[in-house]
Amino acid sequence: MSGATHDADGSAEPARAADGEAVAAERCAAHGATGPALASHPNVSVRLGALPVDRALPLRGRRLVGAWCFLDRFGPLAFDAGRPMDVAPHPHIGLQTVTWLLEGEVRHADSLGAEALARPGTVNVMTAGRGIAHAEWTPTPGAGRLHGVQLWVALPEAQRHVAPDFQHVDEAPTLALRGGRARVFSGALAGVASPARHHTPLVGAEVEVDPGARGLELPLEPAHEHAVLVLAGDVALDGHPLAAGHLHYLGLGRAGGCLASAAGARLLLVGGAPFDESVLMWWNFVARTPEEIALARADWTEGRRFGDVPRYPGPRLEAPPLHRLARPRPAS
Ligand code: MN
Repeated sequence: MSGATHDADGSAEPARAADGEAVAAERCAAHGATGPALASHPNVSVRLGALPVDRALPLRGRRLVGAWCFLDRFGPLAFDAGRPMDVAPHPHIGLQTVTWLLEGEVRHADSLGAEALARPGTVNVMTAGRGIAHAEWTPTPGAGRLHGVQLWVALPEAQRHVAPDFQHVDEAPTLALRGGRARVFSGALAGVASPARHHTPLVGAEVEVDPGARGLELPLEPAHEHAVLVLAGDVALDGHPLAAGHLHYLGLGRAGGCLASAAGARLLLVGGAPFDESVLMWWNFVARTPEEIALARADWTEGRRFGDVPRYPGPRLEAPPLHRLARPRPAS
């Protein structure tokens, strides 16, 4: 499908399998921006167990930014005991998960046997490809703080069935900017590239704006569409204040943006080449057809394909019924 395809904009129309069975998946397609924009979409508050989460993608009216198809922000929060994040083993197909923390720690274990501790400055990239299972939880005792984002990248047709893979990057590179800096955890920004392996041209970065900065020139790739999310502080883009709790979609064709902040700010930048495929998202699966989703669900339920996560001390998650719209799991 072309990048100009519009989706059903959040309608609940179920996807139909060839046998007529309904799969309550969300169809996500690029909205086909052709130039710069500034469209602010409010985040949606959801809960993952006890953990409050702000969902910034997918939203009604904005499903994809480049190949980024899912974006959740959790925290900042403090805790004394227990595990604010505790996501039991669950499967993924057709995507990469990207975990980036501002505060605290999250432990990852998967069906490949990989284990890693995410901390501020590190980035975990898990490629589901044809199928993987993983679990994520806050370590006990942990740092007592938690603040971060969870993102998914849709894999393009040529790579969506690849073998699963897990990559831990110890230190995301920094792009120095006048009045701040950017930590590039995925893709590249102004020639500073993350070692994380991706399959479409994209960028994921945390931008820090110093207090009192008035003219931080944030370089952008004009061939990419971009969006920003305020994580902390106050910030204006080209003179427009950016509200917290919103995904600010910037469109295509920008070579840069000018950031200013009174008290300092941190924001998340995501972008990429417009994703030229329409995807179906259901639960933890990014696919193209209802049949693929039904098969992946059956394989998880019947113990095929995905493997186990023996490192996790507890039962795994059960898949919801196919006819129920299964929003993606926030903890990716
Ligand atoms: Mn996950």
